[in-house]
Amino acid sequence: GFVTGGQMGNFTGLAAARNAVLQRAGWDVEQRGLHGAPPIRVLLGEEAHVTVAAAVRLLGLGTESIERVAVDTQGRMLPEALDKSLSRVRGPAIVCAQAGNIDTGAIDPLGEVGRIARDHGAWCHVDGAFGLWAAASPAYRDQVTGIEQADSWVADAHKWLNVPYDSSFAIVKDPASHRAAMALTAAYLPREHEDQRWPAEWVPELSRRARSLPVYAALRSLGREGVARIIENCCERAAQLAELLESAPGVQIVNDVALNQVLLRFDDDDATTDSVIRAVQDDGVCWLAGTTFRGLRAMRVSICNWTTSEDDIERSAESILAAARDGG
Ligand SMILES: *Cc1c(COP(=O)(O)O)cnc(C)c1O
Repeated sequence: GFVTGGQMGNFTGLAAARNAVLQRAGWDVEQRGLHGAPPIRVLLGEEAHVTVAAAVRLLGLGTESIERVAVDTQGRMLPEALDKSLSRVRGPAIVCAQAGNIDTGAIDPLGEVGRIARDHGAWCHVDGAFGLWAAASPAYRDQVTGIEQADSWVADAHKWLNVPYDSSFAIVKDPASHRAAMALTAAYLPREHEDQRWPAEWVPELSRRARSLPVYAALRSLGREGVARIIENCCERAAQLAELLESAPGVQIVNDVALNQVLLRFDDDDATTDSVIRAVQDDGVCWLAGTTFRGLRAMRVSICNWTTSEDDIERSAESILAAARDGG
């Protein structure tokens, strides 16, 4: 389904999940709703994106159905912790994995997570809003190994593909549960023939702008290699920035720079980090913002524009270093 964003992609994937896990428990949620339905357990990494919990809420499952699974220092779900949690679940379960932590860029060990979910009969959904694009590049693809074991995925086109907002993909392996969760029919919506694909049957939206057109044009003009080049350039520029900053005094790189994110702290101090962020913003050479990762303030650099050049990174590094030298 072609949806408006990661939020709606997560909603769509989890709606299909809700349909499937309750179907297996002998409950037709589309007909009967959730009143009296077997409770569903939803397992999320501690670092899951906020839109996943919002989707859980919108689907009527309630935040109390969520159980948080411990993560490592990069925000990746720990497979042993997931296995332990799932062992305790008696009824229907949904696992939400993540490809691309918004701060570190880290990707959950999708192969292991997918296998554990399957072994326990749980649905596995992957929020890959930006990280799923790693799969487009032979150089970065190994970070998403095993992703095919999942049941549903989300990838935003309006992030790494650099197309306008409202462009995202919700992909579900089982068309029956996907369609059952989203389908609508009305006599006034004509079809030329019975098996014609009707986009609104796979997404929450009915009327949309033709946002698929720029996405189609981007994919056609870039081709497989062009898309890979965008991904690789952003990741290489992130690595370049990390290299230019890593040995500077007082600068600490918080994450393993494996994708397009660089997370930085200054003097290992929250206040200094915040004032360096403000100084760089005021300088205006590049835009970056702050975040709180595992309880500590950090500068969050996200390299996602296809035009970002080596020179841009050098100038940005100079701006960051100058701000750091002045203590913000
Ligand atoms: C951006 C993002 C989202 C939300 O996507 P929208 O397109 O803004 O709705 C969800 N999950 C992750 C991991 C993201 O990076």
